[in-house]
Amino acid sequence: MIPVFDGHNDLILRLLEEPGRRETIFLDDDAEGHLSLNRMKAAGFAGGFFAVYLPSPPAGDDEDRQRMMQHPPYALPLPAPIPFDRAIGPAMAAMGHLLWMERASGGALKIVRSADELDRCIADGTIAAILHMEGAEAVDEGMEMLHLFHAIGLRSIGPVWSRPTAFGHGVPFAYPSSPDTGPGLTEAGMRLVRECNRLKIMLDLSHLNEAGFDDVAAISDAPLVATHSNAHAVTPSSRNLTDRQLGMIRDSGGMVGLNFSVAFLRPDGRRLPDCGWDPVLRHMDHLLDMLGEDHLGFGSDYDGATTPEVIGDVTGLPALLGALERHGYDRTLLEKIAHRNWQALLRRTWGG
Ligand code: ZN
Repeated sequence: MIPVFDGHNDLILRLLEEPGRRETIFLDDDAEGHLSLNRMKAAGFAGGFFAVYLPSPPAGDDEDRQRMMQHPPYALPLPAPIPFDRAIGPAMAAMGHLLWMERASGGALKIVRSADELDRCIADGTIAAILHMEGAEAVDEGMEMLHLFHAIGLRSIGPVWSRPTAFGHGVPFAYPSSPDTGPGLTEAGMRLVRECNRLKIMLDLSHLNEAGFDDVAAISDAPLVATHSNAHAVTPSSRNLTDRQLGMIRDSGGMVGLNFSVAFLRPDGRRLPDCGWDPVLRHMDHLLDMLGEDHLGFGSDYDGATTPEVIGDVTGLPALLGALERHGYDRTLLEKIAHRNWQALLRRTWGG
């Protein structure tokens, strides 16, 4: 079995939302959601980016939103910004949940803080967790918190989840839509990029709009990375990357992780899981054409997305690799996509 290292999951969010059930969710295999310790081990899940994501208070009816995403065109309004003083508590709790998972796993899962640690974990079968922050609401404009989070283990950050922050503007969820939806980074956002470069914290561009993406590209000295985004040429969603952006990522030595969300995979943009392998293969082929074989991996969005029913939860990873193999991808390419490209990217970004 080829181990799969993954660009994005929202397992921490499930623990944050149901703190009394963390043993059940993570250790006891409640069979809900996409990830649990036993299923990760069984599927050859080698680890990935574990996101600290702060949920917004519900804006309107969730069922309405779901219905809209099943029937494009749609353009969902973004939730209101979360101020620093309401973000810091939940962000600290979310980081605590990942530290708890590491301890509760009894050595099966380890938080990795360097490329050497990541390589060692993948070699010996320990699940490697990268502490990632999806939206920088819990970072103060003076950046002191960034240094504190780095000391805890933070090695990757997105300046925004889609809702605006002090640092920039994200893409609203819209189909069909260009990712060019508004202004880019703020002045504080530019300082955040420079400070992340200094600390060697990876910057994730997945939820930034096109102007913000270009701002990071202009300032950052690190490879450009979109941990969980797809090809706009196949699915014209605001969350997907144009061919121009894919070229910039390739030229920077960066990386794209394929998002398993059907809303960003299906050419018709419908949030419905019955789509077979075809949309997955079309995105993979296009991303390979644009990026070359050293700059593509997976970014599942497990526990944060509706996945194709051919994939389902984490135990569907071997079926995904099988489908790519039948499609003509050879063993060397599959190993690059499954984990080697992420390992090389993180070494380029972090150093040792
Ligand atoms: Zn996301």
